[in-house]
Amino acid sequence: MPVFVDIEEQTFCIDADLIGAAITPRTSAILATHVYGYPCDVLRIEAIAQRHGLRVIYDGAHAFGTRVAGRSLLSYGDIATCSFHATKLFHTGEGGAMLVNDQALSQRINLLKSFGHVGDEHFTLGINGKNSELHAAMGLCLLPRVMGFIETRATLYETYRHELDGLPLSYPVVPADTDYNYAYFPVLFEDEAQLLLAKALLSAYEIDTRRYFFPSLNHLPYLPGNAAPCPVSEDAAVRVLCLPFYPQLDPAEVVRIAGLLRLAIGSVVPA
Ligand SMILES: *Cc1c(COP(=O)(O)O)cnc(C)c1O
Repeated sequence: MPVFVDIEEQTFCIDADLIGAAITPRTSAILATHVYGYPCDVLRIEAIAQRHGLRVIYDGAHAFGTRVAGRSLLSYGDIATCSFHATKLFHTGEGGAMLVNDQALSQRINLLKSFGHVGDEHFTLGINGKNSELHAAMGLCLLPRVMGFIETRATLYETYRHELDGLPLSYPVVPADTDYNYAYFPVLFEDEAQLLLAKALLSAYEIDTRRYFFPSLNHLPYLPGNAAPCPVSEDAAVRVLCLPFYPQLDPAEVVRIAGLLRLAIGSVVPA
């Protein structure tokens, strides 16, 4: 069973201060998510893992393009997984990758994803987890444009922040020594009622927003009811909304969305 560890408010990523207390003799790995492309505290997590002889696996589904201390965020940890699903910053329609810092582990994963055999030599039970040529072709089309996408996203981010200025909303903070990839635009409302009002108003104007990481994982309905409380995560989960955010988004739309949010938060019924 996973043992949940609460998040920190600034990045929504796992709180490295709380990891030590959650480690037991049965712990084999630390599994952490780079939430919305904001980096976990990779250096401290590496130190904790070394001290306890644990592996580190990152869910880097949002991490493509973020750099920490000049290095790809996906290069940290024993394994970093990345999703290339169509909704991600860089995508191949469907698919993904695992980035592995260990030759033997890399060979083992290659075997597992390719039926467990190499030619006529059968080593283990495996699955078909290969990426297809067609999906790779999609990725090759987008790869040269990724840096441009990130630059456009950075500009849209600034437009949103400028337009939303003065509203009682808060935002995650990019840690020091980080080049952020602007994968998402999450905003934190003061309370869930305000979020629901804003979501409903935007929806009435056919503007789709998404509650992401909702509910807090420790509250998933199929888990046994004894998962430890994670108050920061539980609080953030009911207050976070991701606004429309993609490179083709017209800045005029950002202005319009911000205007609607202003109405929703002021509880003013629009004409
Ligand atoms: C999208 C996503 C995944 C799953 O990726 P798939 O490619 O759909 O398997 C996992 N973790 C996070 C944080 C994601 O956003």
